[in-house]
Amino acid sequence: MKSSNLAAQSDIEIERKRLTSLINSMADGVIALDQKGRVIVSNGAVMNLLDINVTLTEKPIAEYIKLYDKNKKLVDFRLLLSSVKTVTTSRDYSLKYDDGSIVNLYISIAPVHSGFGQNAGQGYVMLLRDITHEKSLEDERNEFISVVSHELRTPIAIAEGNIGNAQFIVDKTGDILQVKIALSKAYEQITFLANMINDLSTLSRAQRNKLTLDVEPINAYELINELQNSYQSDAEKKHLTVSSVIDPHLELLYSSKLYVKEILQNFITNSLKYTESGGITIYAKPKNSGILFAIEDTGIGISKNDQKKVFDKFFRSEDYRTRQSTGTGLGLYITAKLAKLINAQITLESELNKGSIFNIFVPNLKPQKP
Ligand code: ADP
Repeated sequence: MKSSNLAAQSDIEIERKRLTSLINSMADGVIALDQKGRVIVSNGAVMNLLDINVTLTEKPIAEYIKLYDKNKKLVDFRLLLSSVKTVTTSRDYSLKYDDGSIVNLYISIAPVHSGFGQNAGQGYVMLLRDITHEKSLEDERNEFISVVSHELRTPIAIAEGNIGNAQFIVDKTGDILQVKIALSKAYEQITFLANMINDLSTLSRAQRNKLTLDVEPINAYELINELQNSYQSDAEKKHLTVSSVIDPHLELLYSSKLYVKEILQNFITNSLKYTESGGITIYAKPKNSGILFAIEDTGIGISKNDQKKVFDKFFRSEDYRTRQSTGTGLGLYITAKLAKLINAQITLESELNKGSIFNIFVPNLKPQKP
C-alpha cells in the first residue's frame, strides 16, 4: 500500500514536471490564477511580457499587470477578473512599461473550476500575447482602405468619364481634337493615381521594414553627387540650377541608405516643383554624431500657417502656384515617417515668395547584428 502510494506520488510529480515544461515552452504567456487572483502557475513568457524578474507564484497578479484599455485608462484588474463569467477575449488592451514604451496585448481569460467537494473553487486561466506588430499592420490596412475609398475615387471617376466621352465622340462625330482633349485629361488622372500608388507602397514598405532597418555606411559626398546628377536634366528643363555645398570633413554616415536617399529625393523633387526661377542647393556638414543635410530653394516659399501643416497627410497648400502642379500631398507625410524610423529630425525655414530650407539631421545608428 505504502509503495503504491509512493509510485502514485512520483507519477504525479512526473506529470507536473511535464506540464511545467510544456507551458514554459509556449511563446504565449500562460497564467493560472486562484479565485482571489493569486498566481498558481505561470510561465517564462509572462515574466518577459510583464518585464519582471520575480516569481509570481502565490502573488496577486493585479499588482504586476498594469493594463490600459483602448481609451488609455488604467484598468482595475481585480474588477475585470471578477466580471469574467465565460471565456473572455480582447485585443484592445495594452501594457505600459516603466520606460514609457507600450505593447498591445491579446488577452484571453477563462474561468475554470478546480478541485472537488470542499476544495472546489473557481480560478482562471489567462493567456497573454504581444500583438503590437499585428496591430500596426491592422492600422496600416485601415489607413490604406480609407485612402483608397476617399482619395482614389475622384481621379478614377474623372478618368472613367473622359475615356467614356472619348468613345462616345469616336462613335458620333469622330472629332479627333475632342478625343485628344478627353484622353489627355484621363491620362493626367491616371498619372496622378500611379504617383499616389507609388507613395502608398513606399509607406507600406517603410512600415513593414520597421523591425529590420538596414543600417549601412553611407558616403554622403557620393550620395549628394549622385542626386545632383540625376536631377540636373529636370532642373535644366525649368532653367533652374542644382548645386551643392559639401563640408570636406564629412565622415561615413551609418543609417539606412534607402531612407536617407528617399528623404533627400522628396525634398529635392519638391524644391524643383515649387521653384520657378533661381535654383536649389544641397548642403551637408557634420553635426554631433551624424550629418546635417539641407535643401534650399529660391521658390514660392511656404506661409507660416502652412508650415505647420506641410507634413500632414494629403496636405497641399491652397496657393494657386502649388495647384499649378500635380501632387498627392503624401510626399512630406511619408518623408516625416521615414525620418522617424531613422531617428532623424526635420526642421523647416521658409518665407513666402523667397524660398524654403528643409533641414534634416541624420544621426549615426549602430550597425545591426547580422
Ligand atoms: P505634394 O508636393 O504632392 O503636394 P508634399 O507632401 O510633398 O505633397 O508637400 C505638401 C505641400 O507642401 C505641397 O503641396 C506644397 O504646398 C508644400 N511644399 C512642399 N515643399 C515645398 C517647397 N520646397 N516649396 C514650397 N512649398 C512646398
